[in-house]
Amino acid sequence: MTSDLRTCKNCQTELVGRYCHVCGQKEVTRRLSIREILREIPEKVFSMERGLWLTFLSLWSRPGQVCLDYVQGKRQPYVNPVSYFLIGASLQLLSLWFSAPVIRQAVQDSIHAASQKPEQAKIFERMDAMIGGDTAAEMANVYLTVIAQGYTYLAFFAFACPLALLLWMFHRRANYHFAEIMVFTLYVVAHCLVVTAFTTPIFVRFGNVMQLLTAQGLYIGIIIWAHHKFFPPGIGRRLLTLLAMLMAMICFFGAIMVLFGVSWAAYLVAVRLQNP
Ligand SMILES: [Zn+2]
Repeated sequence: MTSDLRTCKNCQTELVGRYCHVCGQKEVTRRLSIREILREIPEKVFSMERGLWLTFLSLWSRPGQVCLDYVQGKRQPYVNPVSYFLIGASLQLLSLWFSAPVIRQAVQDSIHAASQKPEQAKIFERMDAMIGGDTAAEMANVYLTVIAQGYTYLAFFAFACPLALLLWMFHRRANYHFAEIMVFTLYVVAHCLVVTAFTTPIFVRFGNVMQLLTAQGLYIGIIIWAHHKFFPPGIGRRLLTLLAMLMAMICFFGAIMVLFGVSWAAYLVAVRLQNP
């Protein structure tokens, strides 16, 4: 009699389908075997990968709709916005590791060029003597450490958070909760991080300015594209979204500058302490 009563092995709920309607676990029918364990791996990995691909492709073709779907409760097909953000930030770090030599050289060259100006030459000479090395090379190293942090916590606190706050203030009429605006922001910023992780190593070969322009262009293009369907239509509304993006960018670059200033000062203090 009990043989045809199927219960969930995880929460003991009576099963009506192949998946438990209470906890979501798939029905377990066989004794555990190595084959069973191995069979579970591709299922779990591919279902995550499928979600990742679908999220990535949908954010290209209809980003506003993805955010709207998620907010309105259609969540199963997509990767969670926080996970997608973490994936984007990790890809950026990997990408930075690839292009670090090119960036280091470019920054070093531009600092070298600036240090040739007579009014700055003296300062750099003094710093060279103090460090006992090349100021430009050391500055480039500090800069790289700072932008590596830019893709971890700064991308969230100095970019995504202010962007969400600004969008929330500018689009009060859309009646979204802050958390709903945060979903939009995380998906959009994460998608920008994923896309530019691939474009940066290519465009950085054409110089830092070229790299910066393409990256900023992509950020602006992607958010304007995502605005459609998520926020109310109208050119004025769209300009407000653009304004929020520009202000968040200024905030982000400002944070990088401040962090660079602080890191450089800390470096100089450390050098002073080592060779008094
Ligand atoms: Zn269950």
